[in-house]
Amino acid sequence: MNVYDSEVAGGLLEHSGFKIISEPEEGSANQDADIYIMNTCSVREHAEDKVYSRLGMLGKIKKTRPEIIIGLMGCMVEEHREKLFKRFPQLDLMVGTRNIKELPALIEEVKQKRRQVARIKQDGISIEYTDQIKRTGTYHAWLPIMTGCDKVCTYCIVPITRGSEMSMPAREVYKEASRLVEEGVQWITLLGQNVNSYGGASNTVIARSPEGTTKQSTGTKIASASFGTLPRNDEQIRFPQLLEMLCEIEGLNRISFTTSHPHDATEELFQVIARNPKISRRFHLPLQSGSDRILKRMKRLHTFDDYKAKIDRLRELVPGISMTTDIIAGFSGETNDDHLLTMSALKEIRFDSAYIYKYSLREATPAAKLPDDVPLEIKDKRNHDLLALQKTILVENSRKMVGRTMSLFVEGKSMKMPDYMIGRTDQDKKVVFEGSEDHIEKFVSVKITDLRYETFVGKLI
Ligand code: SAH
Ligand code: SF4
Repeated sequence: MNVYDSEVAGGLLEHSGFKIISEPEEGSANQDADIYIMNTCSVREHAEDKVYSRLGMLGKIKKTRPEIIIGLMGCMVEEHREKLFKRFPQLDLMVGTRNIKELPALIEEVKQKRRQVARIKQDGISIEYTDQIKRTGTYHAWLPIMTGCDKVCTYCIVPITRGSEMSMPAREVYKEASRLVEEGVQWITLLGQNVNSYGGASNTVIARSPEGTTKQSTGTKIASASFGTLPRNDEQIRFPQLLEMLCEIEGLNRISFTTSHPHDATEELFQVIARNPKISRRFHLPLQSGSDRILKRMKRLHTFDDYKAKIDRLRELVPGISMTTDIIAGFSGETNDDHLLTMSALKEIRFDSAYIYKYSLREATPAAKLPDDVPLEIKDKRNHDLLALQKTILVENSRKMVGRTMSLFVEGKSMKMPDYMIGRTDQDKKVVFEGSEDHIEKFVSVKITDLRYETFVGKLI
């Protein structure tokens, strides 16, 4: 979602006459810039620390160039709000996740008044579709369909920074996806903090008033649809139905989505994936822990067996689907036995990839009241053991792919090997193959012949 928000901010600024310049390398500041805007994440403390250290670095630049403007957007703004102005006097502006459109106006305000300004709205939806977007690729686009989260996983700050769940009306999602396809996009990734609870329990939809302002309403009914299979009553559209609707768009060749919650990963969703080859054969489903005791303490709403049963069913319906996950190492109260259960879970499920991070206590979350009692060196060790195990599993899984024939969407030329093209399989695995530029942005079939680190080598067939 942050990438999408950055693309929107970049596009809006460019349309207001600014030139976007990149950092010479990650973590360094381009000394020629007049304005520095950081988009931020609050999920782990480490991400916040990086922002604080960048603010320090930019503060030093500001001492020699007081005219520069320093701004923050994203979840840290929602979490800490105006408190950040006191701590970082070098900070000029803050824009909340629901106010990105106001960024150019805020920059103007700072320029004219030279004082700290913030716009942080408390309610409404943070999604605004716009064609003023600075997308990096031509064939792929991110498409947010819902924001916020109504779950209460005890470790997680997202419900605080992004608020409660809100879904874009299916009609608007469909229109935006069709517009993207007209612009040449072939592959869309649907985004949401909890993407598969789209249309969720609150039934809240956002209706646009004729003046273009957004208005929140509950149970808004949208008049009958003139396209696809969109039912008359927008309230009834859940994630599986939305996916089926989008699959009907001609020219849209691949649909991915992230991030899903196991609770909302239903048989209906699996059936929809199984019968629609346009839907990516990679499914990211965060497990977090292999111990039921810890899952309960996290309020994850699933046991390991529930989770495993869902994966078994999905693999039965969609053989060869790539499964990926998130794991938290060293959550409050995690014993060595709990950790071993997570190790066993990785061995049993054999994910293709796992994002494994140490537990990071976030103030204001329910778990902040629980002791952060796994010592750092033990968290480090468990994190390391999980990563090492997952790496072995990945290599074993990958070796099994050698010899198979796969469909590949060709993304461009390989940077390292001039005669080679690079593409991604339906399972989102990278493959290089000897080909020509004519293959770019087309689907081809390749036979996997080798594996180099995490990239496959293929032969065009
Ligand atoms: N909605 C998704 C996850 C969103 S946050 C879900 O339900 O799983 C992305 C990932 O960040 C989570 O899956 C979790 O593994 C990790 N995460 C969230 N809070 C964390 C914390 N306090 N410490 C460490 N990792 C955390
Ligand atoms: Fe956070 Fe995901 Fe849990 Fe929501 S479902 S609280 S976003 S981990």
